[in-house]
Amino acid sequence: MEQIMWRWVMVLSFLLVGPALGSSGEPNRFEFTRIVMGCRARIVFYTENEAAAREIAQAVFARLNALDAVMSDYRSDSELMRLCAQPAGKPVRVSDDLLRVLAIAREVSERTGGAFDATVGPAVRLWREARKTGVAPTSEAIERALARSGWQHCRIDAHAGTVTLAIEGMQLDLGGIGKGFAADEAIGVLRAHGIDSALVDLGGDVVVSAAPPGTPGWRVRIDDGRTEPRQVYLSHAAIATSGDLEQHVIIDGVRYSHIIDPRTGQALTHSAASTVLAPTGALADALASACCVLSGSDDERGLKRLAEAFSDIEATASRGVSADGDEGKLWATEGMPGDGEKWSR
Ligand code: ADP
Ligand code: MG
Repeated sequence: MEQIMWRWVMVLSFLLVGPALGSSGEPNRFEFTRIVMGCRARIVFYTENEAAAREIAQAVFARLNALDAVMSDYRSDSELMRLCAQPAGKPVRVSDDLLRVLAIAREVSERTGGAFDATVGPAVRLWREARKTGVAPTSEAIERALARSGWQHCRIDAHAGTVTLAIEGMQLDLGGIGKGFAADEAIGVLRAHGIDSALVDLGGDVVVSAAPPGTPGWRVRIDDGRTEPRQVYLSHAAIATSGDLEQHVIIDGVRYSHIIDPRTGQALTHSAASTVLAPTGALADALASACCVLSGSDDERGLKRLAEAFSDIEATASRGVSADGDEGKLWATEGMPGDGEKWSR
């Protein structure tokens, strides 16, 4: 059984190869790694001198730390957590960063029929607790969590720069979009420093700008454990993966994911995995979570609707072996690049 499970488990890894380095006049490849936002953040870019590269990397990591202070739900003093602590119904002025990421989250919720929903916080917390204790939440607790969520209840007034949480006890959770959004912002910082060719990898949420000099793109290896591993060449693009490989709990033989179906408050149990290519990291990140949710249904209507709603993305989604003997399914958009192919937005 374990083995069958593993067959379906998602393993996405990235392999990056740059051109020959250091010849005169050619830009050099620089790579920096640091733990930020609870994950290993890696930035790779091309520029001429090392001192400048270090300074630029410093600016990128500073920006990522600033975004963590805005979006974290592990830090009780983050701007997000302070917003959630305000009384229901009160418009709260928020930073431009928080306003923008919440606006994208809301749009994705609307266009995925609520498969992605950043107001899923109360249910996320219940299941986080279950991962610690090994005891699943009661149906009453899930009902209470659902009553305090729903993307329609997070109102954004872009003009006034305010967010209003309409229901008492709402908890926003940007765990499914924050890293992708932050990777986009990091690429923005690099561009502001004159770096056109860069890769930012925040624990598997990857955003790239122009291809490394003299190459067809940033070489990224996709290995989902069920189709032939592939290498694709990306430029001006983002890729994200979601699945229950790393974060799950097994209770009474059922494997519960860290991804929740916001419509039911239940943690996914179908061993979902998804890879999404998109124009931005925020979209790739959020849609990978949404595809995991939608791959749980017996038909592919939800996934097809998502692909129609976001015509500029490519995606794969799959479900693994289920408790009732389902053998698993794999779904992909037509334009998903194959081995050796290029993709850019
Ligand atoms: P990872 O952090 O492993 O890359 P994902 O990008 O798949 O994970 O996002 C999962 C996180 O998003 C969860 O830990 C939780 O905080 C949050 N989340 C879970 N389910 C949903 C959902 N349906 N919509 C939005 N956010 C979700
Ligand atoms: Mg995600």
